[in-house]
Amino acid sequence: MADEKRIFLVTQKQEEQEEPDLKDLYPVGVIAEVKQVIKLQNNIVRVLAEGKERARLSAFAETEPFLVAEAVRPDDEADKGLTEEDRLAMFRSIQEAYGKYQTVNSRAGKDFFRQIHGLTELEKLIDQVANQLPVHYREKQKILEAVPLTERYEVLLELLLREIEISEIKNELQSKVKQRIDRNQKEYILREQMKVIREELGEDNTDSDAEAYLAALAELKAGREIKDKIKKEIRRFQKISPNSTESTVARGYIETVLELPWDKVSDDNDDIKNAERILNEDHYGLDKVKERILEFLAVRGLTEKGDSPIICLVGPPGTGKTSIARSVARALEKKYVRICLGGVRDEAEIRGHRKTYVGAMPGRIVSGLKSAGVRNPLMLLDEVDKMSSDYKGDTASALLEVLDSEQNSRFRDHYVEMPVDLSDVFFIATANSAQKIPKPLLDRMEVIEISSYTENEKAHIAREHLLGKQTARNGLKPKQFSVSDSAIEKIIRGYTREAGVRGLERKLGELARKAAREIYGGEKKKVKITGQNLQKYLGREKYAIDQKNDRDEIGIVRGLAWTSVGGDTLEVEVNIMPGKGEYRLTGQLGDVMKESAQAGISFIRSVSGEYGISRKFFQEHDIHIHIPEGAVPKDGPSAGITMVTAVLSAITRIPVRADVAMTGEITLRGRVLPIGGLKEKLIAAKSAGIRLVCVPRKNEKDVEEIAEEIKKGIQIVFVENVKQVLEKAFVRRL
Ligand code: ADP
Repeated sequence: MADEKRIFLVTQKQEEQEEPDLKDLYPVGVIAEVKQVIKLQNNIVRVLAEGKERARLSAFAETEPFLVAEAVRPDDEADKGLTEEDRLAMFRSIQEAYGKYQTVNSRAGKDFFRQIHGLTELEKLIDQVANQLPVHYREKQKILEAVPLTERYEVLLELLLREIEISEIKNELQSKVKQRIDRNQKEYILREQMKVIREELGEDNTDSDAEAYLAALAELKAGREIKDKIKKEIRRFQKISPNSTESTVARGYIETVLELPWDKVSDDNDDIKNAERILNEDHYGLDKVKERILEFLAVRGLTEKGDSPIICLVGPPGTGKTSIARSVARALEKKYVRICLGGVRDEAEIRGHRKTYVGAMPGRIVSGLKSAGVRNPLMLLDEVDKMSSDYKGDTASALLEVLDSEQNSRFRDHYVEMPVDLSDVFFIATANSAQKIPKPLLDRMEVIEISSYTENEKAHIAREHLLGKQTARNGLKPKQFSVSDSAIEKIIRGYTREAGVRGLERKLGELARKAAREIYGGEKKKVKITGQNLQKYLGREKYAIDQKNDRDEIGIVRGLAWTSVGGDTLEVEVNIMPGKGEYRLTGQLGDVMKESAQAGISFIRSVSGEYGISRKFFQEHDIHIHIPEGAVPKDGPSAGITMVTAVLSAITRIPVRADVAMTGEITLRGRVLPIGGLKEKLIAAKSAGIRLVCVPRKNEKDVEEIAEEIKKGIQIVFVENVKQVLEKAFVRRL
């Protein structure tokens, strides 16, 4: 600082070296001018120097107390040979290269670029650009050492180009990474948005669903085979696009199979005493059914697990078939499911649709099992006789597979595609008529008949069960509502006509509702229904029981019919008039009845001689048979003997006893064949005031089974042929 301010600066080859020798220094350095010296704390001095020209270090002149060097200016003879064009070419190419460098390297300052634009001297340009490059000092040293201008130019350009390339590669890498980050970012945002949208729509995320399914699967009680298959389905579900229909199908399937009670069972109550108590508590009568159930329980208790019998309850509507089944479930503490088979025509309703089918579902059996939630429920197969088969497959044989103990431990539902074990299900079937149950199915079942109730039984059921049920159902207390015995009797006779008690229950319900209204309205504290005030509540009586005729009449005979609502009487009227031997059938007659009328007339013509009827009679007269319309349609062959008796009475002019009724099929030869529904028919006869009933001989054993209560007051006469009928029915002998 005190002298010329000149200093020679040279770079050490190894920066850590404290006492460098000549050979430890690069040979070329810079002669510089010291511009400023600043003393900092701790004896540190900062020196600002400006490089002036390069110089080659030739030797140390002194080493103490500081280094003094001998430096020689390099000779620049070579540069003298350069033309102006050479210089310009080099100048421009550096400028351009730097321009490029600057565009690919965002950190290269714009100001600097402007600055070098103002330069005109090649040496200066090279020096400044070299200084600006972010390269290692060793590289910079190379530029320093390159004394001839062309060489310096080449070193710099090479460095510059390399830097450009590095920057380009760096940029490319960066943009790739950035792209990837951008894409990830975008996906992340989209996913987050989708999640929110799904949540808004109430749909859950597929992945979390699949996880929930897997968790449910882990909890599921089922065999290995089943679990593996479900797991596979869940994995598949995870892979398919959540918005596809396929995904919906898979979801439905997985949820269904996860809900099935594969190995889940409920404990039965095997206490017979308890079962007996409950069955009696719920139902009046029905002794045969109750007995059979208790037998079954006993057998099962002794054998651990026997073949579950399939009980089929057959009887008219409203006789408690469904409700006793429910009561059996209650007694055994089993889960109860009811499957209605009425109107089922398509096999798929029982066995399910294949998954590929749009809107596919498991069949009713598996659905029933699902809603039961255990694999050993009591399953009520309601109305098995109302099933039919069409081109879509055989419903009966599908049901057969359900009921067959050999096959039903591996029942195959088309939807579920895995064997479902039905062998622990307790099946009870119901039907209105055993004849309409497909034969192979009937063979598998044990039929228990439930017949119509007598008035007396109905009254018991009403008092002991229905009344209490309806009182409670309509929010009344027992002491607020009562129905007298005479009112019940009137309801049974005048307001209902049925085999069972459904209508009766409905009427009691109607009374209870009306009572509830009066009590709630504050009109009354309690309502008592009696025979006297019944009409006020229910309106006029709807049915009058056909009473027997007052007088014995010619050509009018009372038959007995069995209809869907129980027994009924039917009157056959016959008129004979002059004509040409034709006969007419009018009134409410089905085809079967028409045929049995024809058979009857053929029989009469064949035996006309025996009854003293002249041959010509049939050529000169017409016969007209009429059956007045009743409340309920009737058809069947059992009016045969009734029609024959009426025709014969009309021809012979012998009156028929008004207190006699009859039932029986007729053959061409006048034999009387057995009929069904005898109990109901006798009940009807008795209510009509009949005293004597002709019954086919072959029905004798049925009569033995009928309760004395019904038979009391009626004389039953067994007949084998028409002659025996006439003996009883005609007021006098032929
Ligand atoms: P079904 O299935 O034979 O058509 P339901 O089981 O539906 O008849 O019975 C109709 C109603 O009558 C039910 O409320 C039932 O509880 C009642 N019921 C039928 N029979 C009896 C009975 N013997 N004792 C008590 N209630 C009965």
